[in-house]
Amino acid sequence: MSEYGKPTTEKEFDANFEQIKPLMNSTEAYYESSRCLYCFDAPCVTACPTGIDIPQFIRQINTQNISGAAKTIYDSNYFGNACGKVCPTEVLCEGACVYNHQDVKPIEIGRLQNFATDAVIERKEHLYQLAPDTGKKIAVIGAGPAGIACACELRLLGHAVEIFEAKAKPSGLTVYGVAPYKILNEEVLKEMNYLQEQFGYTVHYNKPITGKEDLSKLEQDFDAVFIGIGLGETRSIRIDGENLKNCVGATEFIEELKMEHLKTPVGKRVIVIGGGNTAMDAASEAARMGAEHVILAYRRAKREMGAYEFEYDLAKAVGVKGVFNAQPLEILGDHEVVGVKFIRTKVENGKVVSIPDTEFTEACDMVVRATGQAKQETFLAQIDGLELDWGKIKVNAHFQTTNPKYFAGGDAVNGGAEVVNAAAHGKVAAKGIHAYLKN
Ligand SMILES: Cc1cc2nc3c(=O)[nH]c(=O)nc-3n(C[C@H](O)[C@H](O)[C@H](O)COP(=O)(O)OP(=O)(O)OC[C@H]3O[C@@H](n4cnc5c(N)ncnc54)[C@H](O)[C@@H]3O)c2cc1C
Ligand code: SF4
Repeated sequence: MSEYGKPTTEKEFDANFEQIKPLMNSTEAYYESSRCLYCFDAPCVTACPTGIDIPQFIRQINTQNISGAAKTIYDSNYFGNACGKVCPTEVLCEGACVYNHQDVKPIEIGRLQNFATDAVIERKEHLYQLAPDTGKKIAVIGAGPAGIACACELRLLGHAVEIFEAKAKPSGLTVYGVAPYKILNEEVLKEMNYLQEQFGYTVHYNKPITGKEDLSKLEQDFDAVFIGIGLGETRSIRIDGENLKNCVGATEFIEELKMEHLKTPVGKRVIVIGGGNTAMDAASEAARMGAEHVILAYRRAKREMGAYEFEYDLAKAVGVKGVFNAQPLEILGDHEVVGVKFIRTKVENGKVVSIPDTEFTEACDMVVRATGQAKQETFLAQIDGLELDWGKIKVNAHFQTTNPKYFAGGDAVNGGAEVVNAAAHGKVAAKGIHAYLKN
């Protein structure tokens, strides 16, 4: 049973989605930074996909050099502020902190990172001097973490950059997908403005690149193209009833919630189907929107879920109930969802098999399919010579694709990971583009 009432005002919405990693004040940051051991060969650095020099920035915070700390962070990760809040630090830097071996709370690296970067964003403090103009122009498709990070690094190296973005806001799933209790949209967009003002790339919003004609024009007008398009809509689960009213895809549900807040319809009894991080988010969010009962149904055992344990703990803490080894057979209802028919499963030789005569029904008035995002293969097939590996764009170590004019990064390359991985790809790809243009 969820403990949250349905929010009816923005204030109640904010209270239900209270930040789990609030901004530190300077006293908290000072004391927390004092605990760091400034380890040699620090494991927290190795665990960070962007390799931020964590002991260095923590020492800079401790010696009141906040701009220096922010620069250390941004030198490695252009999404330094967002990542401080949205990264799964529990399994990355903080999970690797040496204090874990002594049963002492690890350093709150994410919140310290957020503290330093927030200060320079608030002061609109520019940290970088751009290289002189090279006369080269690069097109970036998609203003997500991969595309924006690539654009920042290219501008730093002196290239002109134009980003083409299908939607109305920058940062991709950071603003359209990440749970509102991790970061506020205002915070994400503040960092995006900060980056754009500093690096001076152009973004064309509501401008999807759709077909061969658009692509040919980019190839003609630009010296290189970076693809940072992420993934597509929620995949179908191919069972009857999927098209009933109140059966929605998880990414679509979360996007609506993030943009529309109170206007988002949420049922009283919600079943979320899936076992990944997006399923955990969707279930938590439905509960915080006042759903009375939220069931998370996964077809394998609990230990086999793809989601991080801490994400499941977050969902359980708001009243979400897990039902495991339950495969959905049909979504029931005439026009609207009234329930889901499941069958019990077991795993044999790594495969999920149904146990005969174990069907059961759970009543609900909303189903959220959190069954993963589809890859954008139809679009990508229109780029000459671009090879895919199970729908993911094939790249070399410099993130160059099999069509040499195109580079790519982020979810479209790794099949779906975290903001920090996409930001890391974008930066490395920009260096690859720079080397390609020099030759
Ligand atoms: C629900 C959900 C919650 C998540 N929560 C977290 C989290 O808490 N922490 C975390 O680190 N990661 C989280 N992630 C993952 C993270 O958001 C992604 O890994 C990351 O955003 C990928 O970045 P990207 O740039 O590759 O793609 P995206 O963020 O998907 O950005 C791609 C951009 O390209 C645009 N685009 C697509 N096609 C076109 C086209 N043809 N023309 C022009 N523009 C186009 C899209 O509109 C979008 O803005 C979450 C993902 C989801 C789905
Ligand atoms: S591992 Fe922990 S204590 Fe060591 S440098 Fe990193 S944050 Fe500091």
